[in-house]
Amino acid sequence: MFAKLNLFKECQEYNLGLWECPSFIFMVLGLVNIVAMLGTYFIANRYTDQPEIVALIVIGVSAFIFILSHSVTQGFDKLAQANKMKTEFVSIASHQLRTPLAGIRWTLNLLNDGRMNNPADTATCLGLVKENTERMIKLVNDLLDVSRIEMGKMTFMPRQTNLYVLAQKIINGSLRFAQANNIELKLEASETLPNVFTDPDKITMVIQNLIDNAIKYTKGKGEVKTTMEATDGLVKVAIKDTGVGIPRSQQKHIFQKFFRSDNIMKHQTVGTGLGLFIARSVIEESKGKIWFESEEGKGTTFYLTLPAYK
Ligand code: ADP
Repeated sequence: MFAKLNLFKECQEYNLGLWECPSFIFMVLGLVNIVAMLGTYFIANRYTDQPEIVALIVIGVSAFIFILSHSVTQGFDKLAQANKMKTEFVSIASHQLRTPLAGIRWTLNLLNDGRMNNPADTATCLGLVKENTERMIKLVNDLLDVSRIEMGKMTFMPRQTNLYVLAQKIINGSLRFAQANNIELKLEASETLPNVFTDPDKITMVIQNLIDNAIKYTKGKGEVKTTMEATDGLVKVAIKDTGVGIPRSQQKHIFQKFFRSDNIMKHQTVGTGLGLFIARSVIEESKGKIWFESEEGKGTTFYLTLPAYK
């Protein structure tokens, strides 16, 4: 009974701010209406010889109601958009789980039928099963990270971290993936780069995602260059690719969760649209910034800055 009276519970659940929460705004509108009617009545009674004051009050109240109605519409828009994205996401996530699962079933059938008799073929099959399993684990981990971020429960264990050392490890680990895609990986940074204070596992995930994207979204031969420098008490990282770029009209959505641009959807590259949403949360949690510059058909550069550790 009392739970039903909690007007804001739903809005908290849907992540809507107070001034976008339809039930709250409707309540305010009701109160404003009552106060405005009573106020106008009393003032009109007292200042009957000054009708312009009454007119001003009516105009003021109408403007206020107009602004509030606009907020209500925005709240509904946001809910509708979230709903659409969730529906799209269920379809993307199911599709992406189905692809590796189908791969695993196919490989297991081969092994089960006894058609893969020699050890080399068996090893190839097991390699495929492992690769597909890792794809699924990544998707599920991304989903768990997103839900932790949204519930404000992401665990963050910051300590002094050297981004140069970290980037070297990431790049070494990505060499095979880059070679398979005909991409040359470069790293330029001073070895005396100051440390930053952040969670090394989380920042590894961010830089790995940016480098993976730079490789994934470059079609044909290309180059991905990571540079790091210290400027004004900050460590600045830039990851520049010569890839497909991001269409200008879609750039404003790039950090929204589940968003994937039209131009890369055509290439059927694997992805969920969660990496950059997670990246931005991690960087902001470390008091840093992340942004990008991109031109379709020419390439993209992602930048991030983190405060240098003193
Ligand atoms: P995912 O790569 O799994 O789709 P991300 O959140 O990492 O998810 O990226 C979101 C979207 O941003 C990508 O789908 C792609 O449209 C765009 N994007 C990210 N990085 C690049 C890049 N380096 N070049 C072109 N587009 C990119």
